[in-house]
Amino acid sequence: MLVRPASEVPTEVVEQGACGTTVKRLVGEKEGAPNFYMRLFELAPGGSTPLHEHPWEHEVFILEGEGALWDKGEERPFKAGDAIFVAPNERHQFRNTADKPLRFLCLIPASGMCGAAVPSGFTQPDATASGGQ
Ligand SMILES: [Zn+2]
Repeated sequence: MLVRPASEVPTEVVEQGACGTTVKRLVGEKEGAPNFYMRLFELAPGGSTPLHEHPWEHEVFILEGEGALWDKGEERPFKAGDAIFVAPNERHQFRNTADKPLRFLCLIPASGMCGAAVPSGFTQPDATASGGQ
C-alpha cells in the first residue's frame, strides 16, 4: 500500500498540443499499479489539453475550478464536484474557462497513455499542432 501527499509527486508540464497544463502521476506503473492509473491535472486560466481521441476511456472528477469540455463540436460546461466520463474514441478537450486554476483527477486504464508520449492509434485532428498527447 501507498499513502503520500500529492505535493510529493513531481509536476510535469504537458507539452505536445496542450497549453498551460501540468500533470502529477499520482498512481501508475512506477507505484506498481497493474490496471488503473490516476493522474492529477492542473490547467492555468486559459489553459487546455489537446483536442484528441484514443481507444481508452477517461474517468474524470473535477476537484476545483470550472471549464468546458469539447463534445462533438459543442462546449459542455463543468465545475467542481462534477464527474465526467469520456468513452473510448470520443474526441475531447478540456479547457479552463475561469480565472482561477482548474484541477481534476483523470483515471485511465494502464494501456492508456494520455499525457505521456504519443500512443499508437492516437490521432491529432489539428495537423498544425506539434504531435499529440
Ligand atoms: Zn484523452
